[in-house]
Amino acid sequence: MFLLLRLRRPVSAMPWRMGWRGMRLACIAAALLVLGLVWWLAWQSVKAERAQQQISTAQQQASLAAVVAENLAQVVNKGQLMALAAGDALAGHARGQQADIHRRLSTMLVAEHSFARYVLLDAALQPVDSSYALSASESAPLMASLRMSLQVPEQGHARLLPAARSAASGHPDLWQIPLVYALRPLESEASPRAGAAGGYLLLMLDLGYFLNLYRDVEMGAGSAIHLLDAQGGALAELGPQGLTMPFSREPVAPVARMTGNRGAIVAALQPGGPVSHFSWRRSASSPFLVVASRGLEWVHGPQREDSRKVWTLLGVLSFCMLLAVGGMLRVLRHQEGLFTALSVANRDKHMLIDQLEQEKAKALELAANDHLTGLHNRRMFNELVASHLALARRSRKFYALMYLDLDRFKAINDTLGHHVGDLLLQAVAQRLRQLLRSSDIIARMGGDEFAVLVTGMDAMTDMDALAAKLVDCLSQPYEGLEGHSLQVSPSIGVAFFPRDGHDVTLLCRNADAAMYASKRAGRGRFTYYDATAGADSARSYALERQLPRAVADQQLVLHFQPKVRLHDCRIMGFEALVRWQHPEYGLIYPGEFIASAETTGAIRALGDWVLQACCRQVAAWRALGLEPVPIAFNVSPVQLRDSAFAERLAAHIAQHGIEAADLSMEITESCLLEPRELALSVLEQVRAMGVSIGLDDFGTGFSSLSQIKDLPIDTLKLDRSFVNDIRSSSEAGVIVTSVITLAHNLKMRVVAEGVELMDQLVYLKTAGCDEAQGYFLSRPVGAKAAQELLRAAYLYPA
Ligand code: C2E
Ligand code: CA
Ligand code: CA
Repeated sequence: MFLLLRLRRPVSAMPWRMGWRGMRLACIAAALLVLGLVWWLAWQSVKAERAQQQISTAQQQASLAAVVAENLAQVVNKGQLMALAAGDALAGHARGQQADIHRRLSTMLVAEHSFARYVLLDAALQPVDSSYALSASESAPLMASLRMSLQVPEQGHARLLPAARSAASGHPDLWQIPLVYALRPLESEASPRAGAAGGYLLLMLDLGYFLNLYRDVEMGAGSAIHLLDAQGGALAELGPQGLTMPFSREPVAPVARMTGNRGAIVAALQPGGPVSHFSWRRSASSPFLVVASRGLEWVHGPQREDSRKVWTLLGVLSFCMLLAVGGMLRVLRHQEGLFTALSVANRDKHMLIDQLEQEKAKALELAANDHLTGLHNRRMFNELVASHLALARRSRKFYALMYLDLDRFKAINDTLGHHVGDLLLQAVAQRLRQLLRSSDIIARMGGDEFAVLVTGMDAMTDMDALAAKLVDCLSQPYEGLEGHSLQVSPSIGVAFFPRDGHDVTLLCRNADAAMYASKRAGRGRFTYYDATAGADSARSYALERQLPRAVADQQLVLHFQPKVRLHDCRIMGFEALVRWQHPEYGLIYPGEFIASAETTGAIRALGDWVLQACCRQVAAWRALGLEPVPIAFNVSPVQLRDSAFAERLAAHIAQHGIEAADLSMEITESCLLEPRELALSVLEQVRAMGVSIGLDDFGTGFSSLSQIKDLPIDTLKLDRSFVNDIRSSSEAGVIVTSVITLAHNLKMRVVAEGVELMDQLVYLKTAGCDEAQGYFLSRPVGAKAAQELLRAAYLYPA
């Protein structure tokens, strides 16, 4: 049940809303989001690190530029000092103190290694003193550039000479940059020109030396110090390759942007060249621009390696993640497949359960209702009546169970067809419904048989009116049954509760018996159950009803009674006598059911069964190698009214592969009544086949020997009433003797039946009787015992 409930819960829909597709999309989106986030974070951190590195590089470069610029300013200042001293000395010179100038300036020059040499010039640019004399090739361009430079008077300040390095390359003086200081005017001059200098000190600044001081400074890979003149012309550079000095003072590309005293930019040194970071520094007292640079590729070089690792790692991670997502999608797809399959299976199961439930409901309805009339069926009727009777016990009302059967319904069915029969049954059911109250229980018990439990009557006599009304109404013609108008009468039997039975079974049986009484009394009427009719009638009625089924169900058995030849006690034949092994009553003898079987017609099927059983028995004995004796079977007049009887008999004989002589047939005189011709012709046919015929119970009927002499009869069976009377009545003895004699005359054999005593046997033998049959010799016995008798072949009276 639990399982059923579980299954009934709809599972075809997904337990969540998003669905499989949504889930896959969400999975992909989540993976992409995570990946994007990771990459973005990595990128941010790399960017931050780059920025950080740039900042620290900028700081480093700025301080480097500051230090170099400061040092350079100090050198320039020292030059200034020398210029002051030179001014003094020049004044002294004017006073004739030549040697002193040289000494003082040389001392100062030695103190500052950055200055390689000096040249002191008077206001007319005539050399006054020098650390060593300028060569002619040196002096000419120098003087030219000096003159050019001096066109802009700028007293006291050091200035760079532009054409300092037009000298031949490779000369160590290349590293020397001429710095010129204007000396103050000499006091001796009466009216010096405004702005005119007293002289000039030319100091050769050894940039090689100066920059070499920084050679060992840890600047970082890719770093360089550039010394530029105020116009941005390149003077010297200390870079990774060491010291370099350009021939011309070409301004470096980004210098235009290097305004102000300090600053930093990122730019390419040469247009289209690698980008570097530049920090610059200028000081007011120095004519130099100091620039510290570092190539960005060096700035970011180490980080780039790290970044590459990070990107590689991220790439691998992303690949793995995509693989994982791919795997997950596959798993999801697989799950979806399973889920779909499960849903389908569940839906099928669901449908199956529904179908089963529908079928169960249908089956229950079918089990409770008669499909043709819609009335209750037997099973339901029994259940309902049982529960009503339980209530009826405590009630003061009267209850009656009514059995109702349509007279000659079978004929209607046979002649007009089942369909008309069915319509008639429906019409009858309809009338029953109209005539009875809704509290009454109506059922069709099968065939044309209906049953009704009439409930809650105030008096038993109420039943009279009801039953009469039923008989009357149901007997009215039924119109429109496929164009037929039919009239049937009901036979009704009524049993009262609790008088005629305490339970449904007994009430049914008694109502049925009463109905049967109605039929016997002439049909189209109702009868109350009469308990005084006794159990016999109920039993015989039951037997009569059950016989057809018993034949089909093989409840019949044959017993065999031997016929013994009197002169030598040899067994000449057996008479087959039918018995009914009844499941309820035990072994029943034919006296109890043959007569009614003849009335109902069941005798035909019964007789046929007997015929076959006889054939089978003979065949069995033959198969055992026994020499069979004829088995005589009894036939009823009803059987002989069938013109195909002989034909069927022949068929059975042929079917079992036996001889006609293995059988004989016993008829009674009543067989020879109307239609006599038909009976005679059947007898002739049977006899012609080779089956001998005996006339049974001779002496009890109407015939005399003269009447039977022309009949196709081989044997006379003397009725046992004669045999019984042989000794007590001499008249009977005479009759027996004369019958035997006359029969012999007519070439008939005589068999005496019902021999119970030795005396009878002796008398019969003496009288010339051919064979005897009776309890004295043997009772009818089962097939096995009969087989032993046959094997013995002789049967001597005990
Ligand atoms: P039936 O043909 O006259 O059969 C002889 C009956 O007498 C048998 O009774 C048998 O058991 C009985 N009987 C035999 N010896 C003695 C004896 O010494 N004393 C007395 N009192 N009775 C003896 P059963 O078997 O009850 O048969 C009764 C009748 O039923 C038969 O009379 C026969 O008419 C009829 N019958 C039996 N079997 C069949 C059958 O297969 N078909 C037909 N149509 N009728 C049968
Ligand atoms: Ca018989
Ligand atoms: Ca008999």
